[in-house]
Amino acid sequence: MSKPKSKIRQFLAAIAVVTLALFLVLAFAAANETVALAKPTAAKKAAGKGRSAASKSGGGAANVDVEALQKQALAAYMKRDFALAKELFQKCVAGKGRDVSLQYYLGVSALYAGDFDLAERALCRVVVMTPPQNQFSQLAAKTLQDWKQFGKIKPYSQLQDGRLVRWCNAKEPGEKSKVKTIKIWVADGLQLPAGYVGEELTRDKCKNLYGMFRRPGFFEGLGRVEHYISGYRDVVIKGINDWKWVAPLGIVDFEFVEDPRRADVLYFWCPRSGGDSVGRTYYSWTGTSNSVCIVHIETEYLRRWGARWSKELRDTSCHEFGHVLGLGHSDNEMDVMCGHGIRVSYRAKVEYSDASPVTRNDFVSLRALYELPGDAEFEVK
Ligand SMILES: [Zn+2]
Repeated sequence: MSKPKSKIRQFLAAIAVVTLALFLVLAFAAANETVALAKPTAAKKAAGKGRSAASKSGGGAANVDVEALQKQALAAYMKRDFALAKELFQKCVAGKGRDVSLQYYLGVSALYAGDFDLAERALCRVVVMTPPQNQFSQLAAKTLQDWKQFGKIKPYSQLQDGRLVRWCNAKEPGEKSKVKTIKIWVADGLQLPAGYVGEELTRDKCKNLYGMFRRPGFFEGLGRVEHYISGYRDVVIKGINDWKWVAPLGIVDFEFVEDPRRADVLYFWCPRSGGDSVGRTYYSWTGTSNSVCIVHIETEYLRRWGARWSKELRDTSCHEFGHVLGLGHSDNEMDVMCGHGIRVSYRAKVEYSDASPVTRNDFVSLRALYELPGDAEFEVK
């Protein structure tokens, strides 16, 4: 008897918490004459460089009068007609994907309408598009924790220097989003020329490299890194393939190519990358011709790992490819995107398993990132 009782208590407590949160938000909205709904978000203002948020997540909704829809949606919400509110907020976010309050209200409306899948997606988007201290982010994170239907997921913010970074899937604004295949080339022990190994690859260095990659014979003339063991490349590929299970879900897709000139992402080796990390990902500079994403992996660290190198390299590779896809760092040390501890030791305690180290937190964060319009979107060749 005690079990069901405590479950009911937990459930009631969860409802109480969410209701309190809702009351606070509604009170806030009312006090500000629905300012939370009408005001353009800071995130959208910060979008700056990218194409406009409305045009990218549009799906033809750019012409819809979002302001009028917002009013109707809020009215339905106030009347507790959550099914209607959900429908209307969904139309609103199709036109203004980067409006955090709209995403939040959509999530809560969907929750109360019993649509847990939509609620989860919208609440994850709230967390992903805002810094952790954001009021909506905290409410969304708490709701995802408190309602058992969400399985205690913990998405994490994907803002990197205030921007959402991702690969471009949609062909044209307004067209239905289509997943393109990212092409990856992994060097078998090759390193970049002197001046491009060891230290950080600055913007100027990257630009020089983009030009060098086009020179005939460039890749053929590259030297081998010290302490390279054959087998490293296969393990790096294994780590990248730890993301392969998300491909059938229509979020991202990728394949490996033999010709580096065809690739969107190039992996090179180096003795040390300059920082205290094992791997480093340099995003392609959008707007720069022939730009590609470059990943550096250090052989010095691999040597220090001794017998553990295979597992550690696989995790490092998986982590770095998360960055390639646009993911930032998680605070949760079980997530593959955990950023502290430099990953050298945090997984050492975990027994080796063949399962992908990508957690559900990593997955829902990636999914949300690709459901939102990005500030920088990388083109696939
Ligand atoms: Zn990292």
